[in-house]
Amino acid sequence: NPNVAVKVDIVVIGAGQAGLSSAYHLKKLGIAPQTGFLVLDHAAQAGGAWQYRWPTLTLSTVNRIHDLPGMRFSDAVDTSAGQVQASVAVPEYFAAYEKAFALPIYRPVNVKVVCDRGERLRIETDRVNFAARGLINATGTWETPYIPDYPGAARFKGRQLHTRDYRTAAEFAGQRVVIVGGGISALQLLDEISHVATTIWVTRRPPEFREGPFNDEAGHAAVALVEERVRRGEPPTSVVSVTGLPVTPAIIAMRERGVLKRLPMFAEITEQGVRWADGSEQQADVILWCTGFRSALDHLAPLQLREAPGGGIKMTGRLATQVAKDPRIHLVGYGPSASTIGANRAGAAAARELAPFLGLLR
Ligand code: FAD
Repeated sequence: NPNVAVKVDIVVIGAGQAGLSSAYHLKKLGIAPQTGFLVLDHAAQAGGAWQYRWPTLTLSTVNRIHDLPGMRFSDAVDTSAGQVQASVAVPEYFAAYEKAFALPIYRPVNVKVVCDRGERLRIETDRVNFAARGLINATGTWETPYIPDYPGAARFKGRQLHTRDYRTAAEFAGQRVVIVGGGISALQLLDEISHVATTIWVTRRPPEFREGPFNDEAGHAAVALVEERVRRGEPPTSVVSVTGLPVTPAIIAMRERGVLKRLPMFAEITEQGVRWADGSEQQADVILWCTGFRSALDHLAPLQLREAPGGGIKMTGRLATQVAKDPRIHLVGYGPSASTIGANRAGAAAARELAPFLGLLR
């Protein structure tokens, strides 16, 4: 019966790194699984967005995947076999983790919309509906790829795709591929594709390479910048976009191969390719948009959490996980916590703030 809603204190939406960390900490605080809290995820299996990542993204080519609280990656997954696909290993780790801590995760359950019903939040799904006193939203960014608008995009006769559609470079063998974007994913795909195709790399700003190892200080400064933005109610920028691009052996090899010749953004897309403001043109078979993701928050639209004029959500709380407008709601893996380590910390902060706020701690 769709009019009936199951009562629960806290619903966590999403079982990626951020949702699992939240669930772990809620359980550790003594909140009862099922009646006190539960987790909903619309994926068929454990792994968060990692299960969808391209096959060549391996444990040695990711930045770094931090262990979830309470269980080491290496205790759950045998990584000795060399090139281990992140899309295989992380789901294995998350599945072992969910089991070890007996986390109450329901899948596949798709949360369609969340509405404010006064005392409780109504969470409507494709299965049953829930009436919750608090919400921890951990839905990540993978489901909302971002492609900027350029004139002529609909005219292009070739193929356009986003990072999230990428599977293998072999698909582009012998073609001319325009790769748009200056982030880590753009560079990884540029590297792979440039071995089999002609690549044209365009970015909005000249990319900033960071020599030497990435230190904690630079990381903290980068996260602090994003945190200040969301505390002011501005839309977050990605944490990685403020940390710069690490110069890895792969980058050095690309430099030597002459692949890192970057062009500024084109002004429009034509039937056959792209055209710059000065009239110069490049023919292309493919435009690959490595232009990032936005937070997947459409299901929260009826709550009207966004601020005018920028459209960001004003955040508060110790690690800026709490929505200023509605303190029953925490967003984890959002803004400053959009990394595996950030998601860990945000899950802890959200659980520790929300449980006492709802009077759940004895
Ligand atoms: P996700 O892992 O995306 O989990 C969100 C979950 O929510 C999913 O399981 C999804 O099924 C579920 N969901 C979404 N909407 C709904 C809904 N409406 N109803 C029900 N369920 C829903 N970070 C690092 O720290 N190190 C790295 O090396 C690294 N590499 C990356 C590589 C790529 C290509 C990308 C795109 C990101 C990378 N990041 C990395 C960022 C990192 O992936 C994230 O910060 C972190 O893993 C995200 O965890 P999350 O829990 O926020 O989201």
